[in-house]
Amino acid sequence: MISLDAKLVILVALMALAACCRAGWAKSGRTLQTEEQLAGLRADAQTPARIAGLRAACDYLLKMSDDELWDFVPPPDLPRCLNVRFGVGCPVHGAEIFKVGGHYPWKLDPAQPFKVTCPVGGETYPTNDFAAYYKAGRKEKLDTRQPYVDDGYGWVNEKGERFWFVGYYVFWQRWRKEVLPGISNLARLYLLTGDK
Ligand SMILES: [Zn+2]
Repeated sequence: MISLDAKLVILVALMALAACCRAGWAKSGRTLQTEEQLAGLRADAQTPARIAGLRAACDYLLKMSDDELWDFVPPPDLPRCLNVRFGVGCPVHGAEIFKVGGHYPWKLDPAQPFKVTCPVGGETYPTNDFAAYYKAGRKEKLDTRQPYVDDGYGWVNEKGERFWFVGYYVFWQRWRKEVLPGISNLARLYLLTGDK
């Protein structure tokens, strides 16, 4: 048991510590690489090829405006899902989809954002335009019991089973293939070129 006096001492010490942590203590220069390491890296014969490869990988991100980039990163309340529905698969073709496409069978295409395509029948879900709904701020109330309508929290069939079409795209395509590698590629590109 800590006495009241001891608690007061700890509180005052914490307040003093917090008061010390001003912006002036923030990072003010490079800390992960030394200038010598960076100079060596930039002089490396392989670096022009590395820069070209990185530019190609994140060209679509470099073309976006700040607002577009901001909207590109899904907000934390938009679920990320490993599968559309474990054990069930496709609403039409069921578990057949796992025989054709393995554990994570749905086809994804950045040209069709937030859509997933079944590798068995080639049909695409959801039926609503989630990209437009997302852009408009997800304010409208969608009826997710209508055939294959997904508001980000899945479509629910007549048995009450939820299918996470949008969540699957958000996890595998947007986060795993675009946002996370994009951050890494842009950081490396900046390191090699110094181009803000
Ligand atoms: Zn299907």
